[in-house]
Amino acid sequence: MKTILPGQTIGIIGGGQLGRMMGLAAKEAGFKIAVLDPNMDSPCGQIADIRIVAPYDDEAALEELGEVSDVITYEFENIDYEGLERLSQIAYVPQGAELVRITQNRIAEKAEIQASGAPVANYVVAESFSELIAKIDQVGFPCIVKTAYGGYDGKGQVKLESANDLELAEPLFTHSACIAEAFVPFKTEISVIIQRNPEGESYCLPISENIHKHHILHESIVPARVAEAVIAKAEEAAKKIADHLELVGTLAVEMFVLENDEIVINELAPRPHNSGHYSIEACNVSQFHQHIRAVCGWPLRKPRLWASSVMVNVLGEHVVPLKKVVMNHPDWSIHLYGKAEAKEKRKMGHVTIMTEDIEKTLVEIDSTGIWS
Ligand code: AMP
Repeated sequence: MKTILPGQTIGIIGGGQLGRMMGLAAKEAGFKIAVLDPNMDSPCGQIADIRIVAPYDDEAALEELGEVSDVITYEFENIDYEGLERLSQIAYVPQGAELVRITQNRIAEKAEIQASGAPVANYVVAESFSELIAKIDQVGFPCIVKTAYGGYDGKGQVKLESANDLELAEPLFTHSACIAEAFVPFKTEISVIIQRNPEGESYCLPISENIHKHHILHESIVPARVAEAVIAKAEEAAKKIADHLELVGTLAVEMFVLENDEIVINELAPRPHNSGHYSIEACNVSQFHQHIRAVCGWPLRKPRLWASSVMVNVLGEHVVPLKKVVMNHPDWSIHLYGKAEAKEKRKMGHVTIMTEDIEKTLVEIDSTGIWS
C-alpha cells in the first residue's frame, strides 16, 4: 500500500461540492489539491491549488492531472470510465476504475449487490420494451422501471401501477436498456456510508435516515430512527458489498426499511454522499476526512457521533430566505458551495444542526417556512 503524505498532491476528477469538501478536508492536513473540471470557477476549483479546465474525458487533461498528482480520486460516478481506466495505467488511482463501471450501470450494479449476498428487490432486466412486456409478470405490479444509465434523483424512472400503465415505460428504452423492479412499500429510507482503505480496513459512519422531496434529498436525520437490529443488518449488508467490490474509498449504500424491519438495498454511489454531510460537524471524522485517509493509504478512524443531528439541503430557491434568517440561528452550521447561479432545485449548500431533540428541530426547520 502506498502512503501519500501532507505536501503531496491529491488530484480530484470533478469540481462540484463533493470535490470541494474533500479538498477542504485534505487542505487542513496540508495536502495540495489539483482538480479537473470543465468550469474555471467550479466549487472545488475555488479552493484548489491547481486547476485543469477541460471536459472529464479530455485525454490530455487527464494525463496532465496524472502528472501533477501523487494520487487521484473522483467526486462523482458519471466520469468517463475509459478515461479513468487509462489514467490508472499511468497514475496512482487506488480506487481503480471498476467500481465506476459498475455503478454507472444499474444492471451491473444490481447483479453485484446480489452477488455480494445483500438483499435487493425482485427485478428483471429488459433490453427492449417488448422484452419488458414479456418479463413483467416475473415482477408484478406495482413496479418501477429504471433506465440502466444516467438516472439520478428520480430521473429516468417510472412507476407502473398496473398493466394499463406499461406504455409509460416505452420512452425509457430510447435511452438505454432498463430494469423493472418490484415497488418496495418501505417505511423509511436510510443510507450507510462505508469507507475502506487498501488494507481492507473499513468503517461505517452512523446511519442516516433520509427524507426526500420531489425525489431530491431534503433532510438527513442521524441517528436514523430505526431499531438496533436494523442498524446491525444495514451495516452488515454494506460491509458485504464493500468487501465483495474490494472497495477503496467511499461507498454510499442506499436502503429501504420495510414494516417488518427487513432491509432492501436500493442503489450505490461510489463517493461521499449528500446524506453524510452531517459528519463534518457531528462526528470525530467526517466522510471527507475519512475518504482522504482511505485513498492516501492511512489507517482509518473509528467514527463516533458527537450529537444527534439534522442536515437539511439548501436548493436554489432556499438561498435568499435562508440568508434572511440565519442570523437568528447560531446553532445552524451553514455551508454554501460557491455556485454562482442559484437555479431552482440546484444543490447550493446545506445546513447541519446538532441537537438533543430531533423532533423539535424538525418542527423548527419547518416553521421557518424556508423549505415549505
Ligand atoms: P433511485 O433513483 O433508484 O434512488 O430512486 C429514487 C427514489 O425513488 C428512491 O429514493 C425511492 O424513494 C424511490 N424508489 C426507487 N426505487 C423504488 C422501489 N423499488 N420501491 C419503492 N420506491 C422506490
